[in-house]
Order: sequence, then C-alpha cells, then structure tokens
Amino acid sequence: MKGMVLVSEIGAYLRCPRLVYFRSLHRDDYQKIIDVRYLSHLILKELALTYHHAAASDDATETLHAELDRITGDLPAIYRVELSGMDCSMIPDAASEIDIDAIGSRIADVTQTTGREELLTKITPCTVEHTMYSDALGISGAPDKLVRPGDRGQALPYIIRTGAKPDQGVWKPDRLQITAYAMLVEETFGTVVDCGFVEYARFFDLREVVIRSGDRRRVLELRNRIRKIKDGRMPDRPREGDAPCEFCAFSDDCDTHRSLASKFF
Ligand code: SF4
Repeated sequence: MKGMVLVSEIGAYLRCPRLVYFRSLHRDDYQKIIDVRYLSHLILKELALTYHHAAASDDATETLHAELDRITGDLPAIYRVELSGMDCSMIPDAASEIDIDAIGSRIADVTQTTGREELLTKITPCTVEHTMYSDALGISGAPDKLVRPGDRGQALPYIIRTGAKPDQGVWKPDRLQITAYAMLVEETFGTVVDCGFVEYARFFDLREVVIRSGDRRRVLELRNRIRKIKDGRMPDRPREGDAPCEFCAFSDDCDTHRSLASKFF
C-alpha cells in the first residue's frame, strides 16, 4: 500500500537507514544472504512459537526436541519464498546450532517459579502473525503473536528475537517496534495498550516493555523519515562500524553510491 510504512522497516532503519532505501529499490529482486546463521534464526523463531507447548508438558526438553525435528522437515514449506532455490542440506547444521537442552531447562525453571497457568497465559498466542493496518497512523505490520496475559483479557503485542539480549530491558529497536505494534493493536481493537512483550528466544527470557509517549512520538518521526526514503531520497551512509555492513546484501550497491558521491565532493 503506497505511503504505508512497515513496522519491520522501523527496525531496518535503526540498523541502517540505507537498508530501507535499497530494499525499496530492489523489492522484487533482492536476494537475502542465506547461510547457516540465517537458517538458524528462522528455525529458532519457529521453535519459539511452540514454547507454550513445552511449558504445558511434563518434559519441556523432550517436547522441544520433537518440535525441532518437525520444524527441520517443515522449514522449506513454511519459508518457500525466502528459501526458494536454496540447498536444504544446510538445515540440519543450522538446527544443531540451537541449544535445546539449555532452552528446555530454562522453560522448566520459569514454569516452576512463575506457575504454569500464569506463564501459559503470558506466552500462549491468541493469534500468530496477525497483520494489522492503520490508515490513520500510516503503519502496518504483524507482530509474531498477540497474547492475553493474566486476567487482563486484552490483546497485547509480543515479538520474538533470536539474537543476543541486553543485560536489562530490551534493545532500542525492539522497544520502538513493540511500541509501533502496540499502536496498531490500539487502532485495530479500539483499546489502550500500556505494555507489550519482547522474548529473547535463545534464553527464553521474556521482558515486558512499558509503552511510553516519547516512544510513540519517535515511531511517528521514524515513519516520516522512512516515507521520504521510500519516495527516493537516499540517506547518507552511516559512519564505519555503525551499520551491519558485513552481512549486508547491498554492500556492492552501497559502495558504488559511495564512490560516486566521493567523486563529486
Ligand atoms: S552496506 Fe552497510 S551502509 Fe550500506 S546499506 Fe548495507 S548496512 Fe547500510
């Protein structure tokens, strides 16, 4: 939809504004780098969507091993577009990078300390990847799931992250994306959302994020900047070391633009 900004583009902008520019230029032909690291991310994300089954079972680790076997087989069917033409032999290697025993024992610990019923209300999805659109906000997106924790009875956004976790709280891009999803939930269901959840799946660490006015304002500012980029304004290249250039599919394009710019200035 023209003018609509995706919540995932807010995350991309915060990693590097030029990623938004190149992705909008190469929407149909950009080829993501598919390696063991990326596959491991996809597998862990799928696995995290089954953690409530593990928490509900008597043996969380055994349940996770069974889910991982299923996901390893199902992955090419679930991510048919993303993985088309790729060599599936890397999938078992990617699955073996995930420390199932550590995650299973963490789920068992949290189930015991939090109480099974309470934990299940926090992590059991009421819907998965429900896409929401708001013409009023000019934002759209689908959080990994919506949950209805405790006795609140209200849908709250929940996102799953497969990378490292900060010592406290959540990373800034995660905080702003959960805020954007909270705003979409409010528009969709006519509610007021005062918090959302970020789960760091590798550690089964669930962190609650309070939705603040300052972050809502920042989401709208980022939306405006992203719109300008998608309208064709290429942002400056971030300083060396400030962007994830090592794993970027656009590094050749980006270097070309840098050389052109340096010829003129
Ligand atoms: S190569 Fe680096 S600066 Fe260029 S788009 Fe990729 S991440 Fe951004």
